[in-house]
Amino acid sequence: MLLTNKTAHSRLSQILDQPTAPFREGRVIGVVESILKTEKIPYFLDPAKNIVVGVKSKAEYLKLMKTKSTEPVRIFIAHLDHPGFHGVEWIDAEHLSFQWHGGSPTAHLEGGKVWLADHDGFCGEGRIEKAEMIPSGRAIDKGIIKVKDLTRTVKATDVYGGFGFRKTHWLEGDLLYTKAADDLIGAFAILETALFLKKAKKKAPFIGLLTRAEEVGFIGAIAHFELGWFRTTKRPVLAVSLETSRTLPGAEIGKGPVVRLGDRKNVFHSGSTLVFSELANRVLAGKHQRRIMDGGSCEGTAATAYGIPTIAISVPLGNYHNQSLEGGPDAADLNGPAPEFVSVSDIDGLCKLTQAVMEPKLPWANPYAVSVGEFKKGLKRYGALLKSAP
Ligand SMILES: [Zn+2]
Repeated sequence: MLLTNKTAHSRLSQILDQPTAPFREGRVIGVVESILKTEKIPYFLDPAKNIVVGVKSKAEYLKLMKTKSTEPVRIFIAHLDHPGFHGVEWIDAEHLSFQWHGGSPTAHLEGGKVWLADHDGFCGEGRIEKAEMIPSGRAIDKGIIKVKDLTRTVKATDVYGGFGFRKTHWLEGDLLYTKAADDLIGAFAILETALFLKKAKKKAPFIGLLTRAEEVGFIGAIAHFELGWFRTTKRPVLAVSLETSRTLPGAEIGKGPVVRLGDRKNVFHSGSTLVFSELANRVLAGKHQRRIMDGGSCEGTAATAYGIPTIAISVPLGNYHNQSLEGGPDAADLNGPAPEFVSVSDIDGLCKLTQAVMEPKLPWANPYAVSVGEFKKGLKRYGALLKSAP
């Protein structure tokens, strides 16, 4: 349990404490690397600087893929970035122009508080003075920030940032409020799964892929898939996409993680999703949800496009992409800047599901065997009636 497990809680805090934005994930990468080193979990960075967890090199990765087995290699995918901006140029000592990357709140932007960071971490705060939207009006394009409390001199193009609130994260009952749950919660769950396997001393077919720049179109994941490291496998591969996803009717905050049947673009692998859904019924009976989470798209869609059978899990997310949809503490009025929030018990459920997905001998290769057995029983039962007419 996350609230009572102090070390797990501290790992999550360390991650949420870091600034991150698309292409500016270095601080989170640093923290994740230090946790992996402390816990002696092998990892390496791929050429796009995604973190690959569970194997120590490309050679080991390929070796795992080329080991003959019926057990699929599970590739858990979550991203390390969150929508934010990059500094463009100092207009004067106090005004910085910026370019936004990814989704964003769409109203009440002027005066919105932002944090600033560079490669050494947070370096100040500011307020949005002017924001222009992209043509669809669905996200910020660019604008100007009035900067205050800059703690050191920084080059404009070294600065990045995002919307800021009273703290990087805080708890209110079961709810965790933060500048960025999406998708640091998913990344945390992958780390916890790696730790669980390490503690169980299981040599498991596990790879964690912690990606960069998902918010602008799965760029890190695509760069990884383009490496072609899956092309000559001697065993099945199963992608497991982990996301926090905009809460929707039937995917409510606090009612458990969601067996994600699909996203805005795609439905995921039918047979594997059946196996996964039955697994969720067994390990989280009455404490999970199940639906297409079409409030956004996820890296599961990229994995599917690259031919990898994919299942997905979502943690329902309030104030998706810092847009005040559900409101709450520190939230501006509708569609203005707001902290994201998730339920801690949903995160616990997420970690249970990711561990369960690693169980050996699940029927990934023959997901419909039980169904066909039941269909045949039905056929037998009604065999006589079937013959009776016309
Ligand atoms: Zn995300």
